[in-house]
Amino acid sequence: MYAAGNNPKLTPLVAEIIAAPHVVPGSDGKRHIVYEVAVTNVTGGDARFERLAVIDADSGAKLAELGPDELASRVTPGASRGNETRELTAYQFAVIFMHVALAEEAAVPARITHEVTAHFAVIGAEMTLTLGEATVVATAPVILGPPLRGNGYVAADGCCDSIRHVRALLSLDGKFHLAQRFAIDWEQLDDKNTLVVGDLKVPANYHIYGNPILAVADGTVVGTRNDLQDQVPGALPPNLPIDEADGNFVVLDIGSGLFVNYAHMRPGGVKVKLGDKVRRGDQLGEVGNTGNSQAPHLHLHVMDNASPLASDGLPYVFDRFTITAVDEAGTEDFDKAEATGSPLTLTPRSPPQQLKNVLPLDLSVVTWPQ
Ligand SMILES: [Zn+2]
Repeated sequence: MYAAGNNPKLTPLVAEIIAAPHVVPGSDGKRHIVYEVAVTNVTGGDARFERLAVIDADSGAKLAELGPDELASRVTPGASRGNETRELTAYQFAVIFMHVALAEEAAVPARITHEVTAHFAVIGAEMTLTLGEATVVATAPVILGPPLRGNGYVAADGCCDSIRHVRALLSLDGKFHLAQRFAIDWEQLDDKNTLVVGDLKVPANYHIYGNPILAVADGTVVGTRNDLQDQVPGALPPNLPIDEADGNFVVLDIGSGLFVNYAHMRPGGVKVKLGDKVRRGDQLGEVGNTGNSQAPHLHLHVMDNASPLASDGLPYVFDRFTITAVDEAGTEDFDKAEATGSPLTLTPRSPPQQLKNVLPLDLSVVTWPQ
């Protein structure tokens, strides 16, 4: 006997959200929701995504809509980066990497859901399904102090549509983890807008190399290592064991279930030890090129446990910083500057944007307060 109102329907797709979506205010004045939808075609024939709308589950308002081209760049079979397509074969699993930038006047939704239109070969027709409902986390992102001192810092591979961090979904111990969802790789420009001068194979020739790395909040050191040598810049090291990915690193427990990962410090560059209590602004180490790194940089992210990889990446904001320019030419331009020593193609912000309590978005050039 069914209870009244219980009227389940067979659906050709099943979906769930991998981790509870958070909202983060960005340096563009918008609020951003970044999350992943795991979806499986449970039919014995091909399914082709045509449209996906993100809906406020309470008001019914449409928050975003992805068409065929956008879906073709975000639907990732097997969560295997580089395999993006909007077509799933029979019984195939995929992850859809989502980024919703809320319109400035839009209310933050308490719950979201999705209307997905897809063509199914087994019926030779399209269907529109509602799936993937999730509660949006209401807690505001943690507010941090500066991780570095000075100016010209580029927020590389940052939020929300770059690929290397936002889509670094790893299957670890039988579960998906996206620790790096809001990670930034910080590098530094000189006054000619280059990242490196001289021999590109020498880590110390990159302007950020050796710079002091600061505690972004009061905390306790709960993870670290300091025994690895720098990689030769120019390529990621082949066959690196996964436990060396972060190179010489520090994990700081900053309370409230939040942990900060600082990776790739230079040989001997970690200045704290396990159990040390630090205050915001204290020096933790020096920037280097150890671990899975192809140019000296500070990788920084916030996560929900002490494991730099097997954790859920959480959003954060910095309490005060200035954006002087943005590399609107994109990751390709940044990669070229890193690989060749050419200057970045920057679009200045004039006057500079003085910002409070937001996340610097991808390829912003940041000055930290003194
Ligand atoms: Zn990184």
